Amino acid sequence: MDINGIDCSWTLGLNPYLGMSLVSAMKSALVTGANRGIGLELTRQLLESGFNVHATFRTDEGGLAAINDPNLSIHKMDVRDKDGIKRVIDSINSLDLLINNAGVADGRWQSISEIDMEYALEVLNINSVSPVLVTQQALAKLTEGSKIVMMSSLMGSISDCRSGRSYAYRASKTALNMFSMAMKNELDSLGISLVIMHPGWVETDMGGPNAPLSTAESVSGIMQRIEEQDMSMSGRYVEFDGSPIEW
Ligand code: NAP
Repeated sequence: MDINGIDCSWTLGLNPYLGMSLVSAMKSALVTGANRGIGLELTRQLLESGFNVHATFRTDEGGLAAINDPNLSIHKMDVRDKDGIKRVIDSINSLDLLINNAGVADGRWQSISEIDMEYALEVLNINSVSPVLVTQQALAKLTEGSKIVMMSSLMGSISDCRSGRSYAYRASKTALNMFSMAMKNELDSLGISLVIMHPGWVETDMGGPNAPLSTAESVSGIMQRIEEQDMSMSGRYVEFDGSPIEW
């Protein structure tokens, strides 16, 4: 397309020099638990950064319904459902970024005697095992140079566990950290870098109204960590601002 002698085909997504669509050269990301909270803000900021985003929700599209962007694809996906994950992954060509963000809090039981074992297993399933299941299914679409973010928590740090309590949530994030580190060597050999992230204490349904950080502040830090992440950093356990966390 030529307007006043200026070739405008770039603006239409066509690269006149390479003869390919810019759209196909766009980086592609998958975000789980993207209908609210940190996942929704990640989706917004990834779109702003020029990513093609596959955002997933469990039951309700939530805030995703209000985003009008041709680079957003919305998928219904429960992170516990292997067949459902496979259907979503099969519909995607390739992935440069996988963000395992979906997670649940626990019952905040006040004593050992109050721990609901059935729910504790559910927390472990969603927070520890399901990110591994999603990663396992996504592996075929991740390539050399791709990055994986595991949304963990400072509460998964054993050395930081001074107050105790939050039994299942803490244990689930510690297990997620170990699953991640155990996967790291295999991912290294594939050229895929992994970061274990604490988003900070963030004002979401999970973080509550007293949290000091907005989703926008937390996610802009996470975006910087993703941008700088390379193979030499794979397996780091960091806060959204890049500060390292003791295991
Ligand atoms: P949130 O507002 O409670 O959102 C949690 C998200 O996870 C929701 O989209 C939820 O979907 C989704 N989810 C839960 N179970 C799922 C399942 N089985 N399948 C698919 N999606 C599921 O929490 P958030 O604060 O944004 O937390 C995001 C991540 O950051 C979590 O992994 C959390 O542990 C971690 N984190 C948060 C904080 C904080 O201060 N907020 C601190 C440390 C770590 P539904 O709407 O369907 O429930």
